Amino acid sequence: MSDIWPWFQQAAAELGVPVTDAQRDAFARYHELLVEANKVTNLTRIVDDRDAAVKHYLDSMLFLGQLPAELHERPLKLVDVGAGAGIPGIPLLIMRPHWHGLLVDSVGKKVQFMNEALEALGLSNSRALHGRAEELAREPGHRDGYDLGVARAVAALPELLELCLPFVKPGGILLVSKGAKGAEELASAGPALKALHGRLRSQAHLALPDGAGERNLYVIDKHDRTPAGYPRKPGIPHRKPLC
Ligand code: SAM
Repeated sequence: MSDIWPWFQQAAAELGVPVTDAQRDAFARYHELLVEANKVTNLTRIVDDRDAAVKHYLDSMLFLGQLPAELHERPLKLVDVGAGAGIPGIPLLIMRPHWHGLLVDSVGKKVQFMNEALEALGLSNSRALHGRAEELAREPGHRDGYDLGVARAVAALPELLELCLPFVKPGGILLVSKGAKGAEELASAGPALKALHGRLRSQAHLALPDGAGERNLYVIDKHDRTPAGYPRKPGIPHRKPLC
């Protein structure tokens, strides 16, 4: 095992998210799988041990710090929209293996990797699914079906809200992480929030270790079912965002 993991464990504790030794070992295993798979499939640019520990795994830990306390212990249904190689979904599921996760991506080879990683990590409550968010969120099993939606690095906020909020149950929460442009994107997200029955509950401005960047985390309440017209057809949320 690389010697980055004890440091990772300490850095996570400093962010307020204690990681057990077993969880630390699971992160090391996930990282090993990611680095191996990345040699043959383009999954991520970030593979250096410390870089990945900060920009993938600790970045994912920031999500946990923003969740209302009562959600951590529940066997909730999580959806990660545009999960890529599994960020933040797989780190969250390593930390909360009793959650039932669905990791969505439109690229089949990424979905295959995520399913292999979930199996190798013993995260048997969770699966990855190949598809466009705009289409999956119209299916009865997924629409208005999840307690918690998460996303990182998928789209600007108005588009992202249309890809994610339709998955979230009324009474559920969407938690998204944005970089330095978060405030600007939030300022233009009013129409999307209104149309999709979202309401900003809280926000946090945080910094990653190693000066690796700032993050704006937004917790959004979903207060009613998704209106019939949403999400619009694939590609429309990107070309004509609700703003
Ligand atoms: N969330 C991961 C992360 O932070 O490392 C991946 C970010 S990557 C830049 C964006 C991912 O979103 C890609 O894997 C892409 O295939 C996926 N994606 C983009 N639009 C999507 C859509 N409409 N439905 C499903 N997946 C989508």
